[in-house]
Amino acid sequence: MKCFVCKKECEDDVKCPVCGFMPVVDLGEDPDETERKNASIIESYRNEFLKKVDVGVIAYRWKDEGGKLVVESEDRMSFGKGHQLYRRSAWCESKFARIPDEEQITVRVSVQNGDNDDIKEIHLPNLKDAELQELGVELDKDMRLRLLLRNSTNTESSDWIPLFG
Ligand SMILES: [Zn+2]
Repeated sequence: MKCFVCKKECEDDVKCPVCGFMPVVDLGEDPDETERKNASIIESYRNEFLKKVDVGVIAYRWKDEGGKLVVESEDRMSFGKGHQLYRRSAWCESKFARIPDEEQITVRVSVQNGDNDDIKEIHLPNLKDAELQELGVELDKDMRLRLLLRNSTNTESSDWIPLFG
């Protein structure tokens, strides 16, 4: 079954390895019903757990080295803590240069949960216009995230992927 709190697929009857939630087990009931009945416990546990989770993006600074572009530095920029992003979207304060001639771009997202830093490579369609772009993230109620890319006229988004999994 899926953990009620973080939606990670885990074994029945054990503490969730991601968020530490103990499953609420009601024999003979279907999980959806159990989840509904315990919604307020699940919601408040999730809110506390998400305060310890940070979602960010790895951004690269490039430099010219003898006519070749090489990575100068790598920075992690935070979108915010999980509880601030849950069921919302947030945008990076920095704007990014558009990568030309690419149909699709790959962005590295970092999901930190305590000492664990999970790096996910997420693909999304590139915007066509040669403008600075903003990168955003959105979390839904089922603990999935997607990336958003926008300029002054258009927005693109990635597929939804599980925050933990
Ligand atoms: Zn969990």
